[in-house]
Amino acid sequence: MNITRQILDAFIDDHLNEQETIKVEKALRESPELQAQLTDIIKSRDMGDHSIGAIWRREHLSCPSREELLSYQDEALDLDRLDYIKFHLETVGCRACKANLSDLKNANPLPEDPALRKKHQQFLENSKILLPKKN
Ligand SMILES: [Zn+2]
Repeated sequence: MNITRQILDAFIDDHLNEQETIKVEKALRESPELQAQLTDIIKSRDMGDHSIGAIWRREHLSCPSREELLSYQDEALDLDRLDYIKFHLETVGCRACKANLSDLKNANPLPEDPALRKKHQQFLENSKILLPKKN
């Protein structure tokens, strides 16, 4: 998918369908140039507090679920999804998800005992196989 200025405009305005939005997000994630272009468009529009983060946060579909954040903490997701959530937390800086994650970290500390940790890891590996693949 070739991301044109028109598509970025539609993305900002929330005029894309779900599939298109996911494609644009993926393209943005992979291209710093495209991110810069998006930032420029937003700046030139003078949209006040509409930062990229604000736009992303408005897009609920880009937020991982609590279960996914928990799996993210345990690195029990496929690499693509781990990468996406890392991007969502660190680049987008989604405050809702960051708060969720620190909440989960407090509620579910990793076992200290190495044997328990291994068991925990095995359990996660098994549940990863059982879980339906996202997207
Ligand atoms: Zn989020």
